Amino acid sequence: MKACLFSGVEQMEVKEVDRPARAENEVTIEVARAGLCGTDLHVYLGDMAHRVTPPRILGHEMVGAIVEAPEEGDFREGDRVVVEPTVFCGRCAACRRGHTHVCQNLNFMGVDSTGAFANYWNVPQDRLHKVPDTLDDVAGALIEPLAVAVHDVRRAQVEVGDRAVVIGGGPIGLLVAIAARLDGADVIISEVNPFRIGVAESCGFDTVNPSETNLVDHVNEWTDGAAADLVFEVSGHPAGAEVMTEIVRVRGTIALVGVHAEPVPVNLQQFFARELHLTGCRVYESIDFERAIRIAEADHVPVDKIVTNVTPMEEIGWGFEQMKNGRDVMKVMIDCQS
Ligand SMILES: [Zn+2]
Ligand SMILES: [Zn+2]
Repeated sequence: MKACLFSGVEQMEVKEVDRPARAENEVTIEVARAGLCGTDLHVYLGDMAHRVTPPRILGHEMVGAIVEAPEEGDFREGDRVVVEPTVFCGRCAACRRGHTHVCQNLNFMGVDSTGAFANYWNVPQDRLHKVPDTLDDVAGALIEPLAVAVHDVRRAQVEVGDRAVVIGGGPIGLLVAIAARLDGADVIISEVNPFRIGVAESCGFDTVNPSETNLVDHVNEWTDGAAADLVFEVSGHPAGAEVMTEIVRVRGTIALVGVHAEPVPVNLQQFFARELHLTGCRVYESIDFERAIRIAEADHVPVDKIVTNVTPMEEIGWGFEQMKNGRDVMKVMIDCQS
């Protein structure tokens, strides 16, 4: 089969590899579309050398059809599925408390083990969700990042009428804004990239560009000096961590979504002064996938605006370079049968 291999820092290779044998509890999926995720970018840039030794097939935001399934089980050849790529041990303290998505021995498929940027992918059948036929492949491959956003909004405990600021208007930030708005929040998106600002505005969001406008003043004006009920830090940038404590109200909540690869300064004085809450948000639980599928089915996600590129497998390196250099892209997807 053809596969995209991460073969070293900022190096992708597309080549023929042996199609791996399917284990007894696994299905084989013919991958249709797979999106490039911020996590994949971190791997590509060499930030995750502690977890990923090249060569490895990355990719986990996907949709595809089953071509082989175990006799015993709920899935059959032809079923269209997405994968919840969190394989947990079931034995560690986190798992035994029921938090299997943050298992202390987590195998995140596509990072810690073989992923989806290939013609075929073998996946344990207990990690699958069926995709309704009303969703096309591009919408299907957006379910995984949408599940991230659903999880983030659920963790943040959004209430109707809340005023929320999303710091970072990439695909996840925009999906978080959409999910928070569905929950009844009034949302503004803080983003510096003009292209992404345009996409956010075309989805009906007010935006602020913190490189041109003082974000703290802007939020204070918007909220009559009260500051925002909720802040989602999605940028993963130190500037986001610096400003997040300045724009959230007394007893407000900061949901930390972005991956900060290095420790960054945070103004803890504000946690004391304003009695703030900080909520970590990592991946998703099965319920988040179920909800994401229902939200997508109900047509709440402007897929055409979020997915800006669908490219052949050979262009995967180009896709990472676009993301790395902050070019005019939102979600880049790979056609895994190209
Ligand atoms: Zn992802
Ligand atoms: Zn575990």
